[in-house]
Amino acid sequence: MTDGASSDVRRILLLVGAVGAGKGTQADILSQRLGLPHLASGDLFRKATREGTPLGEQAKGYMERGELVPDDVTIGMFMDELSKPEAARGAILDGFPRTVTQARALDETLAGLGEAIGRVVYIEVPAEELVERVSGRWVCPTDGTPYHVVTDPPRVPGICDKDGTPLIQRDDDKPEVVRARLAQQVPPMLEVIEHYERAGKVSRVDGRGTIDEVTSRILEALGMSQAVS
Ligand SMILES: [Zn+2]
Repeated sequence: MTDGASSDVRRILLLVGAVGAGKGTQADILSQRLGLPHLASGDLFRKATREGTPLGEQAKGYMERGELVPDDVTIGMFMDELSKPEAARGAILDGFPRTVTQARALDETLAGLGEAIGRVVYIEVPAEELVERVSGRWVCPTDGTPYHVVTDPPRVPGICDKDGTPLIQRDDDKPEVVRARLAQQVPPMLEVIEHYERAGKVSRVDGRGTIDEVTSRILEALGMSQAVS
């Protein structure tokens, strides 16, 4: 590789974190600060099916049949986004790869282009705090206003500020459901972390504290604390 080529290598970052760790929020902030597109797997699925791209049609077919979308279809969607001009300097991947098998397949596809995941940021939050964060979410069934018992409580406990409707908790946010999701999500996630740790690519970042504090830690881990206004 020549010096010229290495300085042109784009920055492909992967953000990893369990439900409630703030991964999506941080990916959005980093996307703005670093000027890199935020590629979230869920958004890519929705966009590809809405736009009716060939991969979107394939993914839709699998989903309609209640089957898992194969890894090569998902990777194809990410590669489509990575081939766009917006991603010329890099991108922030969120929500994929979720398993070591997916990570290996993605690594191979990127290697075919002479590229690789540059850095993996793992936002670590203790499991019990994750349960607390997610299960603190309540929502108004009338107007959809979200609340959080700790970080964004309504003026009157359990009541929507705007229309007085009693708040409800979504099934997905109930503590026992959150614990079950974590039990399912965390083991394969840790395998992905180990996979990239073997390549020396993982930065573990403490995900506790305010959003700003976590952003600062991530930027520091990326060696970019100077690059931010
Ligand atoms: Zn309301």
